[in-house]
Amino acid sequence: MKPSNIIEIESKHTSGLYKKQPFVIVRGEAALLFDMEGNSYLDCTSGHGVANLGHAHPKIAEALAKQSTKLITLFETFPNDQRAMLMSKITSLVPDLERVFFCNSGTEAVEAALKFSRLSTGRSGIIASMRGFHGRTMGALSATWNKHYREAFEPLVPEYSHVPFNNIDRLDGAVTDQTAAVLLEVVQGEGGIYLANPEYLEAARRFCTERGTLLIFDEIQTGFCRTGKMFAFQHYDITPDMICVAKSLAGGVPIGAVLIGPSVQGFSVGLHGSTFGGNPLACAAANAALQVMEDEDLARQAEEKGEYLMDKLNELNTPIIREIRGLGLMIGIELKQKVAPFMKALQDRRILALNAGLSIIRLLPPLVITYEQIDMLVDALSDVLVPGQHENAG
Ligand SMILES: *Cc1c(COP(=O)(O)O)cnc(C)c1O
Repeated sequence: MKPSNIIEIESKHTSGLYKKQPFVIVRGEAALLFDMEGNSYLDCTSGHGVANLGHAHPKIAEALAKQSTKLITLFETFPNDQRAMLMSKITSLVPDLERVFFCNSGTEAVEAALKFSRLSTGRSGIIASMRGFHGRTMGALSATWNKHYREAFEPLVPEYSHVPFNNIDRLDGAVTDQTAAVLLEVVQGEGGIYLANPEYLEAARRFCTERGTLLIFDEIQTGFCRTGKMFAFQHYDITPDMICVAKSLAGGVPIGAVLIGPSVQGFSVGLHGSTFGGNPLACAAANAALQVMEDEDLARQAEEKGEYLMDKLNELNTPIIREIRGLGLMIGIELKQKVAPFMKALQDRRILALNAGLSIIRLLPPLVITYEQIDMLVDALSDVLVPGQHENAG
């Protein structure tokens, strides 16, 4: 099949929910994606943060191949070697959170954590943040801020409210004896790369503990070394009651999980569950992925490369940049104008990046991106963003 045939088929049968790009990607290797003609693209999206290990990591391929000849599916009532190994590995990453619930995506992890918070507290109120993103199923969507994702699907789940991120007084006023959970991203991703202030997270922890409310961190985008630590909250001096993870946990294979602390109670058999959750194939991939994170010290790579990239970006001399924010290899470049033409100009240079809202370029490259590739990225950004050259942006 030719690329034009493939694009035609996808255009004909698409749900209509996705904006389709004009090229067909068939292969990936580390930070590069390749189209059918063999052109390479520098992937600074990582599939929204899924490909932290890089594309088609050989250790993930090997784990999948091996496990798929042994056992692919198994309901969680039956213990399994791969699942047990993953349970002990993943819970060892956060000493206080000893239990784990497995599912298959980020939104399912958030959905589960929200249900667990209502179950455990007997309360119904959920507090999330303005600009926050937590997924698309009804419960997670109710915690998501962006009107564009919400409005067409209202009425959403009742008793959710949103407070301004990093505003301690407003959070103080919002958390009551009716609040089951406060749900937060430590670094807001989709919302535009905004970092939580340490005092804010400390206050959130304090209010929750004082008032019997559970604190949930959504580490779906920030987790697994992205920000320079295994989890972004580890840059701070607090521990939440639950952590939602997904995206990069299994090196690109679908998986989600909730890490659960001792304050979360009320579980009994059958109250919640997932058919595919904890299947041996995804668990084997996750075990391999966690091993790669350790062997290749991906957290350190993210930290060092993030600093290198940030320094270079700060040297870009252009009045159209309003602010550059980031942690590790999770970086936002906020412009004083709309980003769309610049995204297009980057893509013409075969650099794939994400926007966040109308005015922010979001960079989430695989953590295995090379320094040469970072230099290429910076050169392309300089071409596109620095005046005198930005007529190239079209
Ligand atoms: C991607 C994302 C989700 C949703 O994950 P899905 O796997 O797409 O359901 C939730 N929260 C955050 C912070 C995310 O980045």
